[in-house]
Amino acid sequence: MTKKPQMKELNLAFRGNLIQLNKKAITKLVQHHMAHTTWDIMDVHNYHKNGNGWSGIGYNFWIGFDGTIYVGRGFNQGAHCLGYNDTTIGIGYQGHFDKQQMTDAQLKAGIALNAWLIGQLPNVQASDIVGHGDLGNTACPGKNFRMSELKKGVSNGAVEAPNQQVGSETVTNGSIVDYLNSIGKDASFSARKKYATEYGIDNYKGSANQNLELLHKMREGKPKASYIGKRVESKHNGQLRFYNKPSWSDKYVAGYLKEGYGFPDIVDKVKVGKGYQYKVKNSKGHIYYVTASKKYVRVE
Ligand SMILES: [Zn+2]
Repeated sequence: MTKKPQMKELNLAFRGNLIQLNKKAITKLVQHHMAHTTWDIMDVHNYHKNGNGWSGIGYNFWIGFDGTIYVGRGFNQGAHCLGYNDTTIGIGYQGHFDKQQMTDAQLKAGIALNAWLIGQLPNVQASDIVGHGDLGNTACPGKNFRMSELKKGVSNGAVEAPNQQVGSETVTNGSIVDYLNSIGKDASFSARKKYATEYGIDNYKGSANQNLELLHKMREGKPKASYIGKRVESKHNGQLRFYNKPSWSDKYVAGYLKEGYGFPDIVDKVKVGKGYQYKVKNSKGHIYYVTASKKYVRVE
């Protein structure tokens, strides 16, 4: 998990009770500017509360010009993006980015906050960072909002990567993407996801911390995931399905394993829907897929 950045909690007074968000339902991180050149978080809170008549500040988080991150509604439902308030987190930035520049401190804080949020929210990844205008008819967050730098920073793990000590070497600006490029390998998200699986990083979403972990593991040449090459067998008291393809569908069922039966050679672990399957080889070299859930199988 990406480290929680420093945040200021002002204990703002909200009117009525806020509704807690279901983190699993969150699918986007929506970036906003306030479209006002000076207002700080208290001005916005007062305006949203007393001007608009809302419970209080509509954003879940707020980032001041100096890069200070404030908790607005936190993980309670916000009021920032019509039709999406229960499925998104809204981050407001101080300033009017059609008239002003977004500061370096704001960019840095935005990267840290979005990266941390991705680690907190199971169904959000770097590509789910959007501007308000991507979801509604608005110019928000303004033409000077540094969206591509923000996204790049989050997906490259730029928050923690600079001057990170890796083994005996110091890697400057050592993002996993730079590293893969430097050794002539594909650095796309899907390629990184594949490497992550090989190196035992489950549920790779391209968060800053996962990128850093992957960078460490690939540079150190750590052994691949411990299950590779091992036997997997059913510990299920019944018939355990295995498949011709990475799927949970009835139509790809290749057969059933009784308790204690299995495959001699795990070649990979793959994400299938919400779960994982081992890609396995039988003694004849045929490839099948079987659940990787510890509830049903053991690896030895
Ligand atoms: Zn907005």
